[in-house]
Amino acid sequence: MTTNSATGIRWDLRDLYAAHDDPNIAATVKDCHARAEKFAARFRPLLENQEMLTAAMVLQALAELEIIYEALGRVGSYAGLVYAADTAKPEYQDLEQRVEQRSTEIRNLVLFFELEWLKLDDVAANRIMADPALAAHRHYLASLRRYRPHTLTEPEEKILNERDNTGRNAFGRLFSEITSSLSFNLERSGQKEELNLSQILSLLHDPDRILRQRAMETLYQELARHGQVLTFVYDTLLQDNLTMDRLRRYSDPLAQRHLSNEIDGAAVKTMMAVTEENYGLAQDYFALKAKLLQLPRLALYDQYAPVGKEATPFPYAQAEQAILEAFEAFDPKFRHIAGEFFAKNWIDAEIRKGKRGGAFCASPSPRLHPYILCNYDDNLRDVMTIAHELGHGLHGCLSRKQNYFNYDTPLTTAETASVFAEMLVFDHMLAQQTDPQVRIVLLAGKIEDIFATVFRQNVLTRFEELAFSARKENRLTPEKLGSLWLEANGKYYGDAVDIPEGYRWGWSYIPHFIHSRFYCYSYVFGQLLVLALYRMYKDEGKSFVPKYIALLEAGGSDTPDALLKPLGVDIHKAEFWQKGFEEIKSLLARLNQLVAA
Ligand SMILES: [Zn+2]
Repeated sequence: MTTNSATGIRWDLRDLYAAHDDPNIAATVKDCHARAEKFAARFRPLLENQEMLTAAMVLQALAELEIIYEALGRVGSYAGLVYAADTAKPEYQDLEQRVEQRSTEIRNLVLFFELEWLKLDDVAANRIMADPALAAHRHYLASLRRYRPHTLTEPEEKILNERDNTGRNAFGRLFSEITSSLSFNLERSGQKEELNLSQILSLLHDPDRILRQRAMETLYQELARHGQVLTFVYDTLLQDNLTMDRLRRYSDPLAQRHLSNEIDGAAVKTMMAVTEENYGLAQDYFALKAKLLQLPRLALYDQYAPVGKEATPFPYAQAEQAILEAFEAFDPKFRHIAGEFFAKNWIDAEIRKGKRGGAFCASPSPRLHPYILCNYDDNLRDVMTIAHELGHGLHGCLSRKQNYFNYDTPLTTAETASVFAEMLVFDHMLAQQTDPQVRIVLLAGKIEDIFATVFRQNVLTRFEELAFSARKENRLTPEKLGSLWLEANGKYYGDAVDIPEGYRWGWSYIPHFIHSRFYCYSYVFGQLLVLALYRMYKDEGKSFVPKYIALLEAGGSDTPDALLKPLGVDIHKAEFWQKGFEEIKSLLARLNQLVAA
């Protein structure tokens, strides 16, 4: 066990249940089950009779569903949290599985509500949704129906579901099996080593340039060996998506993703175009990074090379203080809420055996406060991780005034509060640092993180667009996919970075392309939105704060576009997205100044 400054920082889950064998857990599940059965008996006949269905009945149904979902959220979160805190304990594994199984049973009992609601014709549904009594539920009810024009008949959906297991899902599994069993042979300080994909990728961050170069060559050589199968898998899935888009009446390959993100495609188009126009900022940075590394020009394998020295160890108590100060400077309310997480033990930060890796914030429901898990290892990166998760925590607390159905946000805005909190803490820490070397490391790290989210994910999305439109014409070969990949990347790297020949296989191991097409633009959207909001905060000062708090309080009660309007944000306007790049420019300017000095 690692002992460090976070040792002993464990969460207190007694606000949920007293212990894993608390009889209240079983009682909650039993009560939920009984309620779900009663719910089905009462509301199924009502929903099936659309002429007689009234807004009052739908409201009653939603109120009852809310009670059931809240309770399931409580047991489900508790079981998930104790398990995450100690995955090796058999009684926690057992509890987690039992609760999951029972929740699925209960959810299946009430699932008919959503399905029947979808089946209602537009006249009946609109009549009900127009009723003022349902004002607080209108967004939820309307968004449930958004897939209606794209849903096939029940028997068709059923056949597709079953066939998918040996169809597109099988290709997805083949991809996962190949990429997770890849093995890379590399010689390192005279020793032959066998590495997996994540190990070889992490070598691209190594200080040793020769090692980085060799790691990259080895990566692409090995991927090329599997190139035929990886190409076949991707090509097949592209064709499957095109076929399904035709059958489900989606206008273009991105339409389904826009619908699930609740974003208008035109806004995404503008965002991506503005991002592309700013690729030059990255090229300027690559030239600067070459200078920092004392190279005439950057090669692709230098992109993630560390610059300068690591900062000193950063104890947990100091992280708490820095975060609270940064939040206080924004608004005392932020400090107050975040302070509760530390004072009331809603954070589990110590590193110990059996505990889940990484970090997350769980916000079970509006009636419960969130919990945070992280593995704090006394470094600056982990301070940012806590800041990030506390941002989620603030969002989860502030939106507690919403009902259950309006509590969560869609993917595109789910990371707003977390990344914004990181910006606050980052700026605060940067201001506190006196050592220019450490400041350079901090700034370069921040800039590279932002590039990886904004620019690189934009490149990935462009590649997907190219791949889809090429697939409409012909079956895709490894040569074709490779050249589309280099085309999309060429615009980003320009002449600033040497691209090795093997990079044409760079597309082939990215899971998003296989499992969730066009997912990547949500990263661009989320990060750029925050940078632009942060820029607005700097420009507008204190008058921005209440508008931002109101945004977090609104939770997921409307589409992102509608929720952002009161802040004066128009996501259809290029000028708004450009604000994000102004913030990036200011980070670059600060770095340039330090390097020049
Ligand atoms: Zn997050």
